[in-house]
Amino acid sequence: MTFFKKNIYELKPYSSARNEFEGEAHVWLDANENALNNGVNRYPDPYQKQLKQLVGEIKQVSPDSMFLGNGSDEPIDLLIRATCEPGKDKILIFPPTYGMYEVAATINNIETVKINLTQEFDINIDKTVEVIKKDDAIKMVFVCSPNNPTGNRLDKLKIERILNTFTGIVVIDEAYIDFSSESGFLQKLTHYPNLVVLQTFSKAWGMAGIRLGMAFASPEIISVLNKIKPPYNINILTQNFAVNTLKNKKSITDEVNKLIEERNLLCKSLLSINGVEQVYPSDANFLLVKLENPKNIYHYLANNGIVVRDRSSVIHGCLRITIGTSEENQLLLETITKFYSTE
Ligand SMILES: *Cc1c(COP(=O)(O)O)cnc(C)c1O
Repeated sequence: MTFFKKNIYELKPYSSARNEFEGEAHVWLDANENALNNGVNRYPDPYQKQLKQLVGEIKQVSPDSMFLGNGSDEPIDLLIRATCEPGKDKILIFPPTYGMYEVAATINNIETVKINLTQEFDINIDKTVEVIKKDDAIKMVFVCSPNNPTGNRLDKLKIERILNTFTGIVVIDEAYIDFSSESGFLQKLTHYPNLVVLQTFSKAWGMAGIRLGMAFASPEIISVLNKIKPPYNINILTQNFAVNTLKNKKSITDEVNKLIEERNLLCKSLLSINGVEQVYPSDANFLLVKLENPKNIYHYLANNGIVVRDRSSVIHGCLRITIGTSEENQLLLETITKFYSTE
């Protein structure tokens, strides 16, 4: 397996005080902490064992196939830095998609190759196979499904074709998978040694504020991520909060179903407004909506205290609207209706 750069394979990682000692102890004089207990005076567990145990039960994945990061942004950055030589290697993405892949690549002076999604917002698979076969500087492919900002999931068979064809790592970003009517790729981890699945606690789990993302992959890939991460990347407040939440809430099905119900309602109501041209099918907790005068309606909403995402520069005429509470959605609908009736 040669997914990673030579210097990464050869790296001898920093060994922190907390990962050198494994036994039971009650006097900790190894890490130069302040001994006075205030709840956060000790360094956190560098490998988040308790938290991974709980995540493992929910996701049915063994802790050695799991990496936890400071949001999904952290594994995205680590994977790019571990696989791509700056100024030489490239990543491949399918725009319009999540902006962080290209930003993380650019920060590292790594080129981003782009193959646009088709009119139906799906992968142009023939072109993709051609490009990955031809350009061996491409070291990683990012697939976002369900995709942000289009909201749809991408064709599973096409994704599998990439997994089977490409010799480097294929990252499938499943930030919105809990809202999807289809299951994702977690069950295929053992089948594809080059697969990395990203998920997050920021969306369906309602914990965007604690910054906690997940990467799932083979133990070989996970061990490399563990080797190159900042030693204490998940702070103690985040670990404790997540552990408490997961202990008390084994499932988010009810909340997710409620949001999906709201999404379907909002979709229907939007379509009944003059001025709304199209609402795209969504497997996520947002809707991509095509409207007349997107810039004007965007500013009108903002002036009324309602912030949505203007995506009209990437997808003609489109705003991306997150599903809010039923009261928030109602207010949004009333404000959009008012805009188009007074125009
Ligand atoms: C929101 C989102 C994430 C989550 O990022 P975090 O850093 O975990 O908050 C990841 N990928 C996509 C496509 C997203 O839209």
